[in-house]
Amino acid sequence: MKSMTFEDWKKNNPIKCKCCKEVLPTDTFENYAKDIHKITNVDGARLRGLYCTGCVDFAQAQIMNESFVEVYKGNQIYRKQGGYTPYWGCNYYFDTVEDCRLRIDHNHLSIVDLIMMSNKSPFQSLSIGEKEG
Ligand SMILES: [Zn+2]
Repeated sequence: MKSMTFEDWKKNNPIKCKCCKEVLPTDTFENYAKDIHKITNVDGARLRGLYCTGCVDFAQAQIMNESFVEVYKGNQIYRKQGGYTPYWGCNYYFDTVEDCRLRIDHNHLSIVDLIMMSNKSPFQSLSIGEKEG
């Protein structure tokens, strides 16, 4: 049996848009920059799957809608692993939406300041400040 070249393999396994299943152009490096897109998770991590230019915005909006909680003072709060993040692509999160709003209220403080105000490990969810009420 003739062994398969990478070109043959590519022909047999074309990369398709995860949304519309259209074959994505992979001829040049420019294709990868302009025509092939990835979407990100709430913590900014790239998700599996590639999208065409026509589908990427819809696919990204769909995943953002799934974890969207509320708009607070112009900031979009999203749900993450049972916690809440003050913006999309944020790599930390808070236990409660109240803590998340507090972070937005005190956004002049660095996250290091917030960690120092908190008794928790920075690798765990942060709970900052005093709860109101
Ligand atoms: Zn598509």
